[in-house]
Amino acid sequence: MTRFVSTRATAEPVPFATAVLHGLAPDGGLYIPQQVPSVGARWREIKDFRELSAAILEAWIGSHIGSTPVRDIIGRALDFEVPIVRLAGGDWNDVLVVELFHGPTLSFKDFGARCMAGFMAAALPEGEKRTVLVATSGDTGSAVADGFAGQDAIRVVLLYPRGQVSPVQERQLIVRRPGVMTLAVDGSFDDCQRMVKEAFAVAAPTIPRLSSANSINAGRLLPQMVYYYRAAAEMRPGEFRCCVPSGNLGNLTAGVFAHLSGIRAARFIAAHNANQFFPHFLSTGEKSEAASVRTLSNAMDVGVPSNFERLVRLLDRRSLVSLIWGTSVSDADTLAAIRRVREKTGYVADPHTAVGLEAVSRYRKETGDSAPMAVMATAHPAKFPETIEQALGHPPEVPARLERYWKMSTQSKLVRPRVDDLLQEIV
Ligand SMILES: *Cc1c(COP(=O)(O)O)cnc(C)c1O
Repeated sequence: MTRFVSTRATAEPVPFATAVLHGLAPDGGLYIPQQVPSVGARWREIKDFRELSAAILEAWIGSHIGSTPVRDIIGRALDFEVPIVRLAGGDWNDVLVVELFHGPTLSFKDFGARCMAGFMAAALPEGEKRTVLVATSGDTGSAVADGFAGQDAIRVVLLYPRGQVSPVQERQLIVRRPGVMTLAVDGSFDDCQRMVKEAFAVAAPTIPRLSSANSINAGRLLPQMVYYYRAAAEMRPGEFRCCVPSGNLGNLTAGVFAHLSGIRAARFIAAHNANQFFPHFLSTGEKSEAASVRTLSNAMDVGVPSNFERLVRLLDRRSLVSLIWGTSVSDADTLAAIRRVREKTGYVADPHTAVGLEAVSRYRKETGDSAPMAVMATAHPAKFPETIEQALGHPPEVPARLERYWKMSTQSKLVRPRVDDLLQEIV
């Protein structure tokens, strides 16, 4: 079975269950497979999405975690559809929009968060309890809370910066869920992250055992491979091209895992907003450590992507540059793309997906390669009504899945940006 090693290569290889419980490797690196397993060739024949997902993950991590079948974890976590919409018109002929936002919180974060919750519950030794701390600036927190809600041995504490998430995002964070506590921090996202870090550093018998659920956890990353396989099955072998709206590069890293374990992709497009660390690296080989800037596609506002460390361990720069084409899209071009895509194809894209669609248009113009291309649609447009209205002059349609949040009861508690306040809440 695949064992996991640290990107810094000093920590001992561990089984998947340990990597999930640890989050970060003890030497501070991120877990990657010691050797990428092969998924084989049979995946192309599996039509059922949950069957396909289980087969891929079993090839990576085996059939069980503890005594729980991986198949059962996946079946429970991925209880929603992944429709693929084929666009026609403008620069987007034969673009396949892979809609990853049909889960309960309407962003692709549901894939990783829900599967990770199942993995962690299965990996936890009998009788042990954990408290999962999550600092969130938007989509991650609600996906994690939703994934873990109701798991008896695991409690979730969410921290978000009050007044700095959108109204829809805030609503999704504060609805009442069993086993979930939401803290509105009177501070910034950086304060929230610092409080989580400081809480981990405090060891006292009164403080419950803590885990983290951020995007560096291998248990969140691996399940994200499944929709790359799903999309690749729609294209001819060896011709899979895929554009990924990117921030922390977790989604793209999962794509590269899928590439190495079976898909053999022809090309990836890394579509970034004004935070252009990775496109800059691809074109110059330099690492520019700039602070993040705020944009309309706020889930991608990352100055230095943490999964970069994984990508450069998986592939040398030459392989990265030949496999991945990158670009950086401004807010003005994002708004224009929402408008143009709507006009030419009738499709309404959220701001993150729009960054991807603009990148496809640029890629096609610059390279002349007009072969079919998948685009990962990472969020539902209704999560960003202000931006959609700004671009199109009218707000997006709101699906019932999102509407229901406004009918649920809420809970949240305001705390000062101090670790003592956090600890007081969790003891
Ligand atoms: C998190 C997120 C992204 C970026 O994904 P990474 O794995 O961080 O690159 C893109 N779009 C949406 C809607 C997100 O929530």
